[in-house]
Amino acid sequence: MDFEFTEEQKIIRDTIQRLVVKQIEPLLKEYPPDRALPKEACLRIVRLVKPLGVLAARLPAEEGGSGLGNVGAGIIAEAVPYEALSPVSATQVVCLRVSLGGNDALKKRIIPPLLAGEKLGATANTEPDVGSDPRAIATKATPDGNEYVINGTKIWSSNGSVSDILLVVASLGKDQQGRNLITPLVVERDVSPYEATEIAIMGVKQAHLSEISLRDCRVPRENLLSGAVGHAHRILTASWISQRPLFGLCCVRVARKAFETSVSYAKDRRQFGKPIASFQLIQSMLAEMDTMVEASRLLCYRALSLVDKGEWCSRESSMAKYFAAESALKVTSMAVEIHGAYGISQEFLVEKLYRDARVIAFADGTSEIQKLIVGREITGIRAFT
Ligand SMILES: Cc1cc2nc3c(=O)[nH]c(=O)nc-3n(C[C@H](O)[C@H](O)[C@H](O)COP(=O)(O)OP(=O)(O)OC[C@H]3O[C@@H](n4cnc5c(N)ncnc54)[C@H](O)[C@@H]3O)c2cc1C
Repeated sequence: MDFEFTEEQKIIRDTIQRLVVKQIEPLLKEYPPDRALPKEACLRIVRLVKPLGVLAARLPAEEGGSGLGNVGAGIIAEAVPYEALSPVSATQVVCLRVSLGGNDALKKRIIPPLLAGEKLGATANTEPDVGSDPRAIATKATPDGNEYVINGTKIWSSNGSVSDILLVVASLGKDQQGRNLITPLVVERDVSPYEATEIAIMGVKQAHLSEISLRDCRVPRENLLSGAVGHAHRILTASWISQRPLFGLCCVRVARKAFETSVSYAKDRRQFGKPIASFQLIQSMLAEMDTMVEASRLLCYRALSLVDKGEWCSRESSMAKYFAAESALKVTSMAVEIHGAYGISQEFLVEKLYRDARVIAFADGTSEIQKLIVGREITGIRAFT
């Protein structure tokens, strides 16, 4: 058992940490803190991190894979602010799903411009009435000659409004048992336009979360991920298993910042003639925060290393996301507590971290859903319905 990064991974960690401080954080400061970044900023960010191989982290070598792997992608997710990571990770997921289910022609057309940082990707599963239960997706893909005609509304699509390539999960109707035949389709915005509007959110306000409207949106038949008719679950599950610990590491980043800020505040702030860090009850909170950050981090990297080994790790992946998300909520709340009333002031970082944790915790499934997945893996019984 080895809890250390390899030498190569340490180089990636040091490189991304330098990049964040020298280029990514200053870039974020160029734009209003309370509005989604313009597309040009998203593209700049993608191009900054591209040389590290993050967009191609999870692709096979013959499709341009960088060999960075899931642990490598995790190192980047832990280092980059969520606002900047969001366009990168949405684009990366589109590459992964097209690689998992696309035919050769589709892969050759879609993946290279995404890897080159010329285009941005987004996924669109969630709908106004369909969240945790993707099997109920109502957006329709109707065959018409050599095309599918897509109609429906999607919501909470990360990167949706700035995307060039949208991976839409739609229904092709019902099978004989009445099951919804859902499938992912690639929509290329320049040939098959869709409307996207920004949703104002409480945290990570520079990130894009969009509502998307697909009205008679026509895509060629070959844009349906091949072999995926009614088997979207295979592609979605494979990408969720590797993606969830990455969101877990986004939570770790937020929680660690809240913890570190709280340690220095507690050493500076004096009450009853002493630094508040000298009170046992404050140290108790700091100890809990530190433990939650470390435990979350270890769970996330363990899940990612299992994915890299090709092991089935739905339990470990959901456990990691669930624990990291809940820990970030608790740690940021304790950070506000330690700051007293200053913790709710917009002048202090912990106010933002508290809101950010609340937003990121929902990405790729709520904690209840993660627990139900873990429960299913433990017992073999589905308790979702
Ligand atoms: C930052 C962020 C990024 C996102 N990015 C994307 C994206 O790129 N693409 C995309 O398609 N979607 C995206 N989403 C949407 C996200 O996947 C959904 O918000 C999530 O799956 C939950 O769906 P919902 O919000 O509709 O909640 P609902 O499913 O309506 O759930 C509401 C509540 O009911 C609970 N609940 C639901 N079912 C059960 C059950 N069976 N048992 C117990 N409790 C249950 C939930 O845990 C929750 O507490 C994103 C969301 C966020 C916040």
